[in-house]
Amino acid sequence: MANPKDDMWRRLIRPDIQRLKAYHVPASAGLIKLDAMENPYPWPEELKAAWLQRLGTVGINRYPDPQATALKERLRVALGVPTGAELLLGNGSDELIQILLMALAKPGAVVLAPVPTFVMYEMIATFVGMKFVGVPLTGEFALDRDAMLKGISAHEPAVIFLAYPNNPTGNLFDANDIAAIIEAAPGLVVVDEAYHAFAQASFMDRLGTRDNLLVMRTLSKQGLAGLRLGLLAGNAAGLAELDKVRLPYNINSLTQASADFALAHADAFDAQCARLRAERESLYRALSALPGIHVWPSRANFLLFRTHTRPAGDVYAGLKGAGVLIKNLDPSGGALKGCLRVTVGAPEENRAFLAALEKLL
Ligand SMILES: *Cc1c(COP(=O)(O)O)cnc(C)c1O
Repeated sequence: MANPKDDMWRRLIRPDIQRLKAYHVPASAGLIKLDAMENPYPWPEELKAAWLQRLGTVGINRYPDPQATALKERLRVALGVPTGAELLLGNGSDELIQILLMALAKPGAVVLAPVPTFVMYEMIATFVGMKFVGVPLTGEFALDRDAMLKGISAHEPAVIFLAYPNNPTGNLFDANDIAAIIEAAPGLVVVDEAYHAFAQASFMDRLGTRDNLLVMRTLSKQGLAGLRLGLLAGNAAGLAELDKVRLPYNINSLTQASADFALAHADAFDAQCARLRAERESLYRALSALPGIHVWPSRANFLLFRTHTRPAGDVYAGLKGAGVLIKNLDPSGGALKGCLRVTVGAPEENRAFLAALEKLL
């Protein structure tokens, strides 16, 4: 670089950070947005009006409640957190992963996860200087129990992340495999239930049986992605340590009030998620019927599929040209070569996606 200032930045920034690529969010203006597992349904008008009224009562000149006491109580009841388990709230579950790994990042400490999985586990491990070990899933994206147990004894990870269901594959891992991993792990196991609303399977009721188990949830995928609210449930003494790393006002007042309001009207969101689960099954059947497409069954609000007759990159670009944005996983390589991921949208969005896709095949 000619500019001496650039040399200064190169000298200062950690080499592992310089090697990273920034998390890329593509522009989506004017497109049917089926790339990020968002809930497509707006709030009913009368609910929106009541919510805005509630926000009007928030004293925005004051700092938020640093412990979000009222919201935590609401979450406990709404999510069925067992008594004895404690809660830690994050600005999205992404922040909880960051808080956890900052606290665990001793020199040489390892983060382990099956791969392919949610990319933030590895990204944040790198941010905090931890080593990430990925253990390949089987051909059908199940946990390879033997390989996981071997990886655990070889690397003694400080934490293992298991997305349940997994992103981007959509499947729910076998609960007995997970139990065996929790049993064998010398460190923590985070069961990441970001898609709980669509899978309706959980390890929440096993908290308390094993002190190394943490259950993570988020309100994002069920319809509140803009709020940024995630939570970690688990051992009280352990979470008290993690809480020292949390910035005091990480959950802002508008999020606290909005989440509390939304949980008090959970039936509206539950109904939307039920519609999306039904839509997922229709979309799965329609994709299965298309020639040259292999689609995997999903317990989340998205479907992973592979295109056999045309390169995935061409299909992705063709869909975008037709006004539909999905996620191209082909560049991730490995088991995801040739794969695309589509979020389950509203019926008319799914129809537009299917029509555009059919034309491209
Ligand atoms: C989307 C996603 C998250 C992140 O959710 P936020 O709460 O919005 O940060 C966490 N885990 C998995 C597996 C996800 O797919």
